[in-house]
Amino acid sequence: MKKRHFETLAVRGGAEVDPETGALVPPLHLSTTFERDPDGGYRRDFSYSRSDNPNRRALERLIAELEGGEEAAAFASGSAAAGAVFRSLRPGDHALAPREMYHGIRSLLLQALIPWGLDLTFVEMTDLTEVRAALRPETRLIWAETPSNPRLGITDLAALADLAGEVGAVVACDNTWTPPPLQPAFELGAGLVVHATTKYLAGHSDLIGGVVVAPRGGTELFERIRFLQRNEGAVPAPFDCWLTMRGIRTLPYRIRAQQEGASAIAHFLAGHSRVERVNYPGLPDHLGHDVARRQMTGFGAMLSFEVAGGEEAALGVAARAELITRATSLGGIETLIEHRASIEGPESPTPDNLLRLSVGLEHPDDLIADLEQALA
Ligand SMILES: *Cc1c(COP(=O)(O)O)cnc(C)c1O
Repeated sequence: MKKRHFETLAVRGGAEVDPETGALVPPLHLSTTFERDPDGGYRRDFSYSRSDNPNRRALERLIAELEGGEEAAAFASGSAAAGAVFRSLRPGDHALAPREMYHGIRSLLLQALIPWGLDLTFVEMTDLTEVRAALRPETRLIWAETPSNPRLGITDLAALADLAGEVGAVVACDNTWTPPPLQPAFELGAGLVVHATTKYLAGHSDLIGGVVVAPRGGTELFERIRFLQRNEGAVPAPFDCWLTMRGIRTLPYRIRAQQEGASAIAHFLAGHSRVERVNYPGLPDHLGHDVARRQMTGFGAMLSFEVAGGEEAALGVAARAELITRATSLGGIETLIEHRASIEGPESPTPDNLLRLSVGLEHPDDLIADLEQALA
């Protein structure tokens, strides 16, 4: 049969009609443990829910299918997924990470993984000359996040994968901001794809979760990630897997509408006299616009902007928002605004007049009206 479209996979993937009951929606399997066969085997394939669970397995299949990967390992958070990726290396192994990245993972690297033994170099990942200079024969992993958080810098993934290939390193791409089908990271050469499912995949701001996806054919690192998942057990509960799957059913339509709103807002902000700068890869004057156009199928629904008048002015804009909610996180159906520098702490490289927007599903005109009054 012809390869199915992404919308169809999102609605139909990961689950069949329940053979026992005819239920269309997968039953929730809360059982910790599963019956063993008289001969001691497990012919039904499940033994203990830390190792595997029907709801988790269905979610993993669905996400692997959407990313065009072989298999996936679901975790209790995006951060746990990222931690497992780095700890699939050996202490002493060398890795690269972007200077601008999700601050929670940067903290994990600095405060847990480097002390654990990871040999890490931070680089400006959008500058491939700097990446090349930092690579060593023993580099095993390059962590990429594009667009980056919170200034939406664009890294050329295909070129990065070529560089990685020269030393036999794997590119792990944090695709949280670019849920399928926005950035086909495996086609661009990534060796692992990571998501905080907390964000767009679940999409309703009601759970915490993460996932690591392996490319077709699998990789040695993924085997170790799977081992850590099953043996440490930082896994999502069955109901969270169930909710994430329900969220994914509408992902293509959510992301399409959300990015339409983001584009309208970016253009509105770009023309506003109190806005000094808008970071959105869909704007033609964005530094990464051409690469983004090549490697993304859409520009996403995240953007940030810098307010004239510094930190105080930026905080004032956020304070005056009435419809848009001041809160961290992203990817949900409600639009959120956040002053990043104050949540990232004193070492944050984020400009103190920057506000980040996660554009939701409200009507764009209502969101623009709210920003207009907040900027007045
Ligand atoms: C939120 C986020 C994470 C971490 O996910 P949690 O589920 O909060 O642990 C990782 N990467 C990016 C880009 C994120 O936005």
